[in-house]
Amino acid sequence: MASIFTKIVKGEIPSYKIAEDDNYYAFLDINPLAKGHTLVIPKKEIDYIFDIDDDLYQGLFLFAKRVAKAIEKVIPCERIGMTVIGLEVPHAHIHLIPINSIYDMDFKQPKLKLSQEEFEDIAAKIRKEFI
Ligand code: 5GP
Repeated sequence: MASIFTKIVKGEIPSYKIAEDDNYYAFLDINPLAKGHTLVIPKKEIDYIFDIDDDLYQGLFLFAKRVAKAIEKVIPCERIGMTVIGLEVPHAHIHLIPINSIYDMDFKQPKLKLSQEEFEDIAAKIRKEFI
């Protein structure tokens, strides 16, 4: 069965898209630790990030770098933290999270509740900065 992220890539499930190209897709995490918390995925459905072949893997991180540069232009923060967990959704993804302290990367922290308008506004602003 297709992963929830494959369904997002295909547009079968809505997402707040940040950027995409032929191989990669970036969108806001629906349960964000911070405003601008973004997931970057390969469109090809591969569960474990370290099973991705080298070219696609390198490209994923280069794509994530461009997304991070766009996020930091929009969300005031010390820097963009990056982590890979993957215990919930079996489709490789990188978390990009605007942070000011190490605690901002703690997934046990309560998630933000944002309105649809807030998600749309954040996504639109980051999309504009993506190059
Ligand atoms: P992980 O697999 O890295 O432990 O966590 C998966 C992440 O995907 C979580 O932060 C969760 O909020 C996010 N997530 C799960 N389902 C959806 C979804 O349908 N849409 C979006 N945008 N994010 C999701």
